[in-house]
Amino acid sequence: MKLVDPIREFQQEIQAIRRDIHAHPELCFEEHRTAAVVSAKLEEWGIPMLRGLADTGVVGIIKRGTSSRALGLRADMDALPMQELNQFAHTSQHTGKMHACGHDGHTAMLLGAARYLSQHQDFDGTVYLIFQPAEEGGGGARRMIEEGLFERCPMDAVFGMHNWPGMETGTFGVRSGGMMASSNEFHVTVRGKGAHAAQPQKGIDPVMIAVQIAQSWQTIVSRNVNPLEPAVLSLTQIHSGSATNVIPDDASLIGTVRTFSTEVLDLIESRMEKIARSTAAAFDAEVDFIFKRNYPPLINHEKETQFVTQVLCDLVGSEKLDQRVEPTMGAEDFAFMLQQKPGCYVFIGNGEGAHRNSGHGLGPCNLHNPSYDFNDDLLPIGASYWVRLVEAYLPV
Ligand SMILES: [Zn+2]
Ligand SMILES: [Zn+2]
Repeated sequence: MKLVDPIREFQQEIQAIRRDIHAHPELCFEEHRTAAVVSAKLEEWGIPMLRGLADTGVVGIIKRGTSSRALGLRADMDALPMQELNQFAHTSQHTGKMHACGHDGHTAMLLGAARYLSQHQDFDGTVYLIFQPAEEGGGGARRMIEEGLFERCPMDAVFGMHNWPGMETGTFGVRSGGMMASSNEFHVTVRGKGAHAAQPQKGIDPVMIAVQIAQSWQTIVSRNVNPLEPAVLSLTQIHSGSATNVIPDDASLIGTVRTFSTEVLDLIESRMEKIARSTAAAFDAEVDFIFKRNYPPLINHEKETQFVTQVLCDLVGSEKLDQRVEPTMGAEDFAFMLQQKPGCYVFIGNGEGAHRNSGHGLGPCNLHNPSYDFNDDLLPIGASYWVRLVEAYLPV
C-alpha cells in the first residue's frame, strides 16, 4: 500500500479528533458541536469555508492554480439514536446517541485529507470538502443541494466513501451502476368498524383484512417483479386493538420497500395499493395508503467509477480492490448527489472488529450495532485515497 507519508505523521492528531467526535455524537441536523470542531480545524489550517448549508453543513474550499475544474469529496457527520455498549475511553458521552455507522471516521478521514491538501500544491483546480449533516434518514444531502450546494460550489464530479465492516482493512470495494438500494416506507391503515368481539356480524374486522393484505403483498416480489431484479418488501409493524373482547376500528401496516430501479419501485407501489384497496373493498372496509420515497438508489457513474478504480489500484494494488463488490439493500443519501453530478461511492474495509479497544461491547462490530467502533487504522488509508483522487482528477 502506498499511503501518503505526511498523512501518517499526523495520524495521532486525526485519531484524537475522530475519538472526540465519537464521544460527542449528535443526531440529524443537530451536529452543531461536530460542525464547530470541523470548522475550527479548517480555520486552523487556513482553509476558507461555507457554513450553514442545511443548518450544520460545512464546505471547505481549497483552490490551487488556474484550472476551472473542480471536484467534491463528501463525508457525513451525524450519529444514531441508540445506546452505545462500549466502555472504552472514547465511548459516547450522550445517553441514547452513538456513532454506530462510522460517520465520526468519515469526517476524520476527510479532515486528514484537508490538512494535507492545505499544505501542498500538487493539484490544479478546486476541491470542495463537503461535511454533510443528517445522512441517517434526514436527507441532509438533499437539503444541501436544495440550498444551493452545486450552484455555490460548482463541481464536475462528486465522490463519497463508507466504511464496510467485515471487509478486510486496507481493501476497497466499488462497482459501476447500482451499489445501494432506494429506501422507501409505507404506512397503510385499514379502516373497518369496531364491534363487540362476540358480535362480529355487527362490525367490519380490520385485523382479518390487514392479515389478508399482508399475505397478498408477499406475492408482489415473488410473482410480479422480474426475478433478475433485486427487491425487498418488509412489513415490519402491524398495530391494532387493545382488548381480547373488542373488534377494533382500524389496523395499521408499516414497513419498508427497497429496490435498485424506479421501474421496480413504481410496480411494487402500485401493486401494494391495488391489493390493499381491492382487499379492503371486498370486505366493505377502506384504506388510507401512504407511500413515501425517502432515498433513491445509489448509482455509480461508469466513467468516474473507472477513474476511481485506477486511483485505488495505484494506492492499494488491484488485489486489494473488489471491483464487483456485492451491492447492498441498505440506502445512502449520497444517492441524491449522484443524481445531480457524475461521481462514485466506494466502500473501505473496516475489518472484523479486532481493532476495538478493550472495553468494547460484546456484540459484533457491525454498522448500527451498539458494540461497533470505527477502525482508526483506516484514517490514513481513507485520507490517502482522497488526496490521490484529488491529485489525479486535478493534475498540475
Ligand atoms: Zn448508517
Ligand atoms: Zn452510514
